[in-house]
Amino acid sequence: MQRIALLGLGTMGTGMARSLLRADWPLTVWNRSRERAEALAVEGASTADTPQAASQSADVVISMVADDEASRHVWSGETGALSGVRTGTTLIEASTLSPAWVRELAAMAAERGCHFLDAPVTGSKPQAAAGELLFLVGGEQETFERALPVLRAMSRDAIYLGPNGSGALLKLINNFLCGVQAAAFAEALSLIEKSGLDREQAVAMLLNGAPGSPLVKVMASRMTAHDYSVNFVLELMQKDLTYAVAEAERHGMTLNTASTAKRLFEQASQAGYGKQDFSAVIEPMRSAED
Ligand code: NAP
Repeated sequence: MQRIALLGLGTMGTGMARSLLRADWPLTVWNRSRERAEALAVEGASTADTPQAASQSADVVISMVADDEASRHVWSGETGALSGVRTGTTLIEASTLSPAWVRELAAMAAERGCHFLDAPVTGSKPQAAAGELLFLVGGEQETFERALPVLRAMSRDAIYLGPNGSGALLKLINNFLCGVQAAAFAEALSLIEKSGLDREQAVAMLLNGAPGSPLVKVMASRMTAHDYSVNFVLELMQKDLTYAVAEAERHGMTLNTASTAKRLFEQASQAGYGKQDFSAVIEPMRSAED
């Protein structure tokens, strides 16, 4: 079997690493804060001190980190993976990033004679833990097909979308829609609570009607229970909306709804909810003066 290096063991990376171990792939892990890697070592992974060391003997290198800055560090920093990989290695960037950075990274990978896929995911903590993610993939189709057995160990499916950057772009569009829906539902629920409608009855009516998307259903359950334990950190949704707005500008478009949602997530971050689940976007609305 091919040897895999996984860089980044946050909420998503940890679940992905466990899925790879369950499927018996030989796995080396690296994480910026070492404790998270040590937890995986107990479960059968090898650990490395740097992305460079993790990648040296890998056939496939996967990154799952927070944002463009983290990805830059992991791949092209002083001890980054690109300085360790062998020619012919398959590099998979699964984080949600700007298409501009992803294309720059694809060019760096090509310079080193490596095959590169941008393969961000949909699904959250439970899907990562269960190996039920969905990969949205950009790159050469042949590379995609060769990587499929590895992607399948972590996912329910992987969709091939076109050249490098295609996966990153569709993922941003997906998350901009999710961010807008979450912010809109937060406003709807705040209005229900402030106006004195029967909350249970009103929410049930909305969830059983046209607005009851899978995302809105999850938001309703978390916001009504005030449960902000992390599936997806609020400041990462803020990042995705920022990247989506910037990418649309590159195409001569203004994403008005994404910009408004982004402002509401920024307010929640400023109010101290940045490290909590993104459903906490409702809290500043609840506490706002009438
Ligand atoms: P997370 O739990 O916040 O973990 C972030 C990871 O990035 C950690 O391993 C962190 O290392 C690392 N990191 C942050 N800054 C770094 C830097 N400068 N250099 C090196 N490593 C750095 O995030 P997550 O929820 O797993 O999300 C990971 C990616 O998947 C993000 O791009 C996110 O947008 C995307 N995503 C998330 C979800 C979700 O529901 N959670 C769903 C789909 C996609 P430390 O442990 O040292 O902090």
